[in-house]
Amino acid sequence: MSQPSTSRQWRGVIREYADRLDVSEATPVVTLGEGGTPLIDAATLSARTGANVWIKFEGMNPTGSFKDRGMTMAVSKAVEHGAKVVICASTGNTSASAAAYATKAGITAAVLVPQGKIALGKLSQAIAHNAQLLQVEGNFDDCLDIARELDARYPVHLVNSVNNDRIEGQKTAAFEVVEVLGDAPDFHLVPLGNAGNYTAYHRGYREELARGATTRLPRMFGFQAEGSAPIVRGHVVKDPETIASAIRIGNPASWKLALAAHEDSNGYFGMFSDARILEAHRILSAEVGVFAEPASAIGVAGLLERSDAGEIPKGSTVVITVTGHGLKDPQWAVRQPDGSEVAPTVVPVDTDEIAGLLGLAAQEKRG
Ligand SMILES: *Cc1c(COP(=O)(O)O)cnc(C)c1O
Repeated sequence: MSQPSTSRQWRGVIREYADRLDVSEATPVVTLGEGGTPLIDAATLSARTGANVWIKFEGMNPTGSFKDRGMTMAVSKAVEHGAKVVICASTGNTSASAAAYATKAGITAAVLVPQGKIALGKLSQAIAHNAQLLQVEGNFDDCLDIARELDARYPVHLVNSVNNDRIEGQKTAAFEVVEVLGDAPDFHLVPLGNAGNYTAYHRGYREELARGATTRLPRMFGFQAEGSAPIVRGHVVKDPETIASAIRIGNPASWKLALAAHEDSNGYFGMFSDARILEAHRILSAEVGVFAEPASAIGVAGLLERSDAGEIPKGSTVVITVTGHGLKDPQWAVRQPDGSEVAPTVVPVDTDEIAGLLGLAAQEKRG
């Protein structure tokens, strides 16, 4: 089912980058048009830091997170190999993405999520797309252990980021950044959960350098929440805790790969309290104009902290990946730093009163 040659519609990451992915004529392309997301110049963050700051807004993917880039590859390859059921463990976004791509492929998604620990927006996506959804009485790491065991013992196909097809699909985000900037940035900042995305960007940039499309390899900076920071602390965290549910992971699947990417890129790992994450979340929505889920804002906290530490030279180019959309987990936007909720002011149907409340009363046009 090819598109008319006059179509200018983005074709999804597999068709756009077919020559740089492990696909062939035999691969049935399962796509929802993922990728091609905007790289947004963040003028207010540039002004704060003196760097040229860009936001790669992955919330613009079909299911609202970067997971779609990897899922189009993982589900296409699964179908190529005859899979009828894909399985994953998820903090939310992987399940939403697996459910949508399995639906597109006409197969079943079975998803394991930690009970009570995933955002309602993500849970509703998995349910809407008809996934076989099970809430496990454990955390994400327990869910991943079980998913791996099911994959080993039963005819199901694992689509977590331990599946290399996921990382391969996700590396295309680096290709897109290079296309827009004309070179790699000096720094690339991402949240760290399983560390698959950190690994994927590094791989994408490495490939760009190898084929001569860029002159440098960005320093890869990754950030975790303090209550869920195994990579920063250097040991598994048994009961990870953070409001940033997408990165509430105590034993990252791509830990070793991330350490290698860190070493190769002269990278950096840091961590922030939930309060700092929410502060960054607010800056992103109220000063930049990008609405993200909490985990997705941590790169902004990283930018400000590293800049204050004098580690981001003025004039350098910085890309921050904002991994998921704010509509997935909107409760944090209406919550004030003191914990109270913002309640919109209720007004009568009265133009003069509303003009007064908007501070417009003295500026009425004469004429
Ligand atoms: C999955 C996810 C992450 C973490 O990505 P990893 O590849 O697991 O490190 C961060 N933010 C969001 C919104 C996610 O969905």
